[in-house]
Amino acid sequence: PIIDRHRRDGRRLVQILREVQDQTGWLSPEVLSWIADAIAWPRARVESTAGFYSFFHTRPLGQYRILWSDNITDRMLGSQDLMQAMCRKLWLEPGRVSEDGLVSVEATSCTGLCDQGPAILVNYRAMPGITLERVDKIVHLVRNRVPLAEWPAEWFRIEDNIRRKDILLDHGLVPGEALSAALARGPETMLTEVRRANLRGRGGAGFGTALKWEACRQAEGSQRYLVCNADEGEPGTFKDRVLLNSYADLVFEGMTIAGHAIGATEGLLYLRGEYRYLLDDLAATLERRRREGLLGRNILGTPFNFDIEIHLGAGAYVCGEESALIESLEGKPGKPRIRPPFPVVRGYREQPTAVNNVETLASTCLIAARGGDWFAAIGTAKSAGSKLLSVSGDVEQPGIYEYPFGVTVAQVLADSGARNPQAVQISGAAGTCLADDEFERRIAFEDLPTAGSFMVFDRGRDMFEVARNFVHFFAHESCGFCTPCRVGTALNRRLMDKIAAGQGSPYDINEMFKLHRLMQGTSHCGLGNSATTALFDTLTKFKPAFERRLQSLDYEPGFDLDLALSQARQMTGRDDPGAHLSQEDKT
Ligand code: SF4
Repeated sequence: PIIDRHRRDGRRLVQILREVQDQTGWLSPEVLSWIADAIAWPRARVESTAGFYSFFHTRPLGQYRILWSDNITDRMLGSQDLMQAMCRKLWLEPGRVSEDGLVSVEATSCTGLCDQGPAILVNYRAMPGITLERVDKIVHLVRNRVPLAEWPAEWFRIEDNIRRKDILLDHGLVPGEALSAALARGPETMLTEVRRANLRGRGGAGFGTALKWEACRQAEGSQRYLVCNADEGEPGTFKDRVLLNSYADLVFEGMTIAGHAIGATEGLLYLRGEYRYLLDDLAATLERRRREGLLGRNILGTPFNFDIEIHLGAGAYVCGEESALIESLEGKPGKPRIRPPFPVVRGYREQPTAVNNVETLASTCLIAARGGDWFAAIGTAKSAGSKLLSVSGDVEQPGIYEYPFGVTVAQVLADSGARNPQAVQISGAAGTCLADDEFERRIAFEDLPTAGSFMVFDRGRDMFEVARNFVHFFAHESCGFCTPCRVGTALNRRLMDKIAAGQGSPYDINEMFKLHRLMQGTSHCGLGNSATTALFDTLTKFKPAFERRLQSLDYEPGFDLDLALSQARQMTGRDDPGAHLSQEDKT
């Protein structure tokens, strides 16, 4: 029935794999062969998709799969100690399935709950605010094989934590109001309004929305598609989670307005796998909007037909890149395409496709209802409207803050109750790290463009560990398609771990600078191009945090024999002084 429901269409492979895995527990070789036969795809293609995404499993899994969000903000809240405590209590090593096949515990990339961490996913259901007491209770429930449906419901409650509203979060529109204004205007006039509004993409790059829509509308094609990119994977970002949780009508209405403007009849919402818990409510909102005549055929009594389908991702940060996202929508591994052609010319199913961010689409409702000039008057000359910031880290009140563009970093720090800040990481692991002499800079495309992540680090934080967390993140998330990124992120991880182990030297720092220059110029997509930005910033602005870990500022060890013997010590169970080489022996 799963395959038939997806019309035996291989392009829906990611959805098929997820649903089959839900039933079978894991994707065994037999299951993959059966799926390949059913959709008439070579088995190797099915296997390559199944092997690409971290939420698909081609080896048996435990009955309970516990994933610990491993963003730096989770770590700052004690996630590593809590995960170790859970593993000890379950007699388990991280990353392994227990001998009885009951449970596995491992780390995963940021789950978008940085305002209420440390967070975990239990069989993909999100649970925020983990404490040692909660760990004890979870271990008890797991040991007693209590079904997840019987766990306390309040453990899974996710708060929005909206701290400051502006034009978008305080929009005052009723469902259908913006859409009916857009339909009355017609596609051409709506495009003119979006151009007058100077609306720019909220995903961080700031590409002109009207320009994108016009290019898509004018491109040759038998069908056009509108895709909402809700693959919010940038560490420290969670504003799309809140928009989809409490402003879903606004997002779907924005998608419908965009679909009308570009001449599409189908819209796709690509929801990150970590936000699976939003799926049922989103599907219910879509259903209600169909009943209310706001989706489907003859919307609001006009000839316009448009419907929306939700696709769930499966744990791959790179799918936030629009062409990788389209590959994923087509059932393939999410590897970025070679561009041109750009998706507006040849995107989903080889047809013109406009991919927009959740917040961008929600903002179009304001433009439809209030006009482009009204929207353009808010913010700065080059950054019209407002921006949602996901504020986390060392602040009294983490959560969502909406400001007109142009707000200073200092203002956000003051409003969120930042405690003695030494640094702010803007726009996630791929973004910019600001030192305290830069806090008068402004959130705006002309100064600090951002997708919305705003992580604060007080003076007690070790900026080396912040950078190391980001370096590990990129090494894990590189899709492996191109050599500079695949090898460069792995080398950076090795160098940072070496320095963390007290084995680093100035040579290693120079190597990282070299890798930064190389990866920026030669990587195939934005992930590789920006993978070293935060490391470079931190190295430049917080150099003492690195230098104090170097073994000697002028001694450059080529090889550490004692370290190389650590595996042998582990195998023989010896770690006494006699099993180590002294410093003298080493030299
Ligand atoms: Fe993949 Fe990295 Fe290359 Fe992008 S830069 S295509 S993520 S390997």
